[in-house]
Amino acid sequence: MGEAGWTVAVIGAGAAGALTAARLLDAGRLQVVLIDPGAATARGVAYSTPDGRHLLNVPVAGMSALPDEPDDFVDWLHAHVDPGIKPSAFVARARYGDYLADHLAACVARSAGSLERVHARVVAVGHVDGQVTLQLDSGELLLADAAVVASGTAPGTAWAPPGLQASARFVADPWLPDVLDNLPDSDVLLVGTGLTMVDVVLAADRPSRSVHTVSRHGVIPAVHRSEKTPPVPPPAELAEADSLAVLRSALLRHVAQTVRRTGDWRAAIDGLRPITSQVWKRLSASDKQEFLRGDARTWDAHRHRMAPVTAERLAVVRESGRLCQHTGEVVTAEDTGHAVRVLLSDGTVMTVGAVVNCTGPVGDAKVDPLLRNLLAQGLARSGDVGLGLETADDGRILGDDNAPLWTLGALRRGSLWESTAMPEIRSQAAGVARSVVAYLLSTEARFTAPAVPATVPVRTAPSVPTVR
Ligand SMILES: Cc1cc2nc3c(=O)[nH]c(=O)nc-3n(C[C@H](O)[C@H](O)[C@H](O)COP(=O)(O)OP(=O)(O)OC[C@H]3O[C@@H](n4cnc5c(N)ncnc54)[C@H](O)[C@@H]3O)c2cc1C
Repeated sequence: MGEAGWTVAVIGAGAAGALTAARLLDAGRLQVVLIDPGAATARGVAYSTPDGRHLLNVPVAGMSALPDEPDDFVDWLHAHVDPGIKPSAFVARARYGDYLADHLAACVARSAGSLERVHARVVAVGHVDGQVTLQLDSGELLLADAAVVASGTAPGTAWAPPGLQASARFVADPWLPDVLDNLPDSDVLLVGTGLTMVDVVLAADRPSRSVHTVSRHGVIPAVHRSEKTPPVPPPAELAEADSLAVLRSALLRHVAQTVRRTGDWRAAIDGLRPITSQVWKRLSASDKQEFLRGDARTWDAHRHRMAPVTAERLAVVRESGRLCQHTGEVVTAEDTGHAVRVLLSDGTVMTVGAVVNCTGPVGDAKVDPLLRNLLAQGLARSGDVGLGLETADDGRILGDDNAPLWTLGALRRGSLWESTAMPEIRSQAAGVARSVVAYLLSTEARFTAPAVPATVPVRTAPSVPTVR
């Protein structure tokens, strides 16, 4: 790009927002405005934890920020942490946050464009005269030529009885800063038994405390092997499956054959990654709903696995007798003033000092105020089977008036299903940046003063592009 002064706003400075900003800066002379209320940049929910026991759930070889340079993270670890780290290692997530922050800083340093980091929450987005308006919770209004929604998805709490939701002993989001360090000294209940539960058990374990866990299915994540078996590509009958029934039986055969050939079922699941989105797209709406109601738990437990050392640490807590696993639902939860008295559907009654929500994101865009705002204005539509937002193949948000808005990551789950881990996010960030640049180059629209209320200070007015 030449001397253009286009402004691109990126909403959310987690891993997805930071990588999108990085790829936009690589593209040329763009003004990138990265907006997030949090103090940190490039860490988001997953990579903010300072706890060294919270490890990546993907070997470092799979976590490069650059789709075309798979060794980038391993090289960074060798240069900055330990030259002996193997590609199959699982390192602390905080290290990955350090890496992403370094990666973005390097992009800023070499870019012809510029990065402005704004610490605020975007509360509303509009589309006026070809420009995107972004209303911040600070009262300021930003203008941009295009915007990328990289706001991730928040954990859902709809399962919690109203009395619990109102209680100070309810931890709705365990990834908020310092929350896990400040749990009361007494026993705790963790609701949800996925990877977040595992991390919270490790952080909450004390000799004096029992940690209870509960989920409807009782399934906990599988474990990676220390040395990865190379992925086994699926047979055509699986890659071309167009119904859930065909998919289930073809998958079982693929897993059985892979186990016979390699001794490791994981290679069969990992081999599906390149075709998961195509298969998902071919399923009917009712098959997708049925998958979400049942199969998704088993899929997630096998697809999103914990590091071997994490499993060993969890086993230590279990063998100590301090981990009590239940299968069922929270029926009632009453804050007695000193504790929470909980009744589970299996009949268990317990008194705990805190209840921690480990159920993970719900995926429904309507629970997020900003996304609700986009939906209400017709700038976006809910994604397939209610997951995230409806998007085109390049991540462009599909709404009624074709606003220059894109998204990536978890908000594309309805379109892609497989869309939350870094290997997908880094490719999507590159694709979104390409698509935004192509849009900017194609548009003849010049900045014209939009209908902004005179009382609202305008922070950034994109300059008129002079060279394209
Ligand atoms: C605990 C955990 C561990 C994980 N571990 C791995 C792993 O090891 N490997 C892997 O590949 N994947 C992992 N994942 C998957 C993870 O989802 C992605 O790796 C990635 O971190 C997602 O980043 P994100 O930027 O899309 O979302 P987030 O990290 O959720 O970041 C979104 C950001 O948007 C901001 N935001 C939200 N709303 C607004 C608004 N209205 N205005 C401004 N800012 C806003 C938030 O403050 C937040 O900083 C993990 C996920 C979790 C939750």
